[in-house]
Amino acid sequence: MDIISRAEWDARAPRSRIKVSWSKRTEFVVHYSEGPADQSVRSIQDFHMDGRGWADIGYNFLVDVSGRIYAGRGWLVVGAHAPDHNTSGIGVCMIGRDGDATAAAKRSIRWLYDEAGRRADRKLKKLGHRDVYATSCPGDELYAWVRAGMPADLYDLPDYVSVSMDTAQSLPPNTWVTIDWGREHSDREHHHRDAGGPSFVEGPARYAFTANVQVDGLTPGTGLRARAIEHADSGGDIAGGPIADYLATKGSTFVHYSLPADTVGDGYRVRFQVIHHGTEAARITAGTVKALTWPTKGAVQAARAA
Ligand SMILES: [Zn+2]
Repeated sequence: MDIISRAEWDARAPRSRIKVSWSKRTEFVVHYSEGPADQSVRSIQDFHMDGRGWADIGYNFLVDVSGRIYAGRGWLVVGAHAPDHNTSGIGVCMIGRDGDATAAAKRSIRWLYDEAGRRADRKLKKLGHRDVYATSCPGDELYAWVRAGMPADLYDLPDYVSVSMDTAQSLPPNTWVTIDWGREHSDREHHHRDAGGPSFVEGPARYAFTANVQVDGLTPGTGLRARAIEHADSGGDIAGGPIADYLATKGSTFVHYSLPADTVGDGYRVRFQVIHHGTEAARITAGTVKALTWPTKGAVQAARAA
């Protein structure tokens, strides 16, 4: 996972820093900010430096409800998050209140824990702030998850991709047309390459998706077909997925396509195509795809890291 750097969140320079070696790091302490989930990291730093008078933001890392990870003091700088545990403990704060911890936030906290273990070359003790200090932190929900061992099966959650068309496309007769998804609503794991274009699942992965598109300009009764296809990174389309048949209706025709289960290999991406067998030039005027995908390469890596 990527860590958003201090420069990227516009951090102030610390007033001072005390370094610590990995040999001294034995604990991993989870916190919450007990503020709004959309609170900026910079405002937390301002409060810690100006309100509390600390040298820097107190935590070593912060995680937001979208799962984004922000560098605080970093791995090997003594923090200001838990008295008597700032040298031994790496402090990680979820930005939000009790009940705000999403699967994405937990997954990122777990990733930081695993990464700390890799760097320390041993397992760190999993603690909630309340284990070492009289506080409600990190909230009942997050604390229960820490006590349960920060379950890593959250890695099995599928990635979610939601895209739609933003420009109508022409649909000439007897030609498979690959639909372009110009608008991206959700794609945290970047299956929708470069936030545009026709591919919406990246292999190697298991996946499922539904596509809904609107076609205009067809004579009622005209035959249409739709299919998933795999596009090779090296160029070229292969292996047309299940083909579904439709008939044009009066007015707009709506194609509802669903592929409940399939796999796509390494070096291939999934796209969606429509064809019609009338004589007129029709248009694809609107469309959406919603996909769930379980990347198989990442799953193997996560299982090894857990
Ligand atoms: Zn705390």
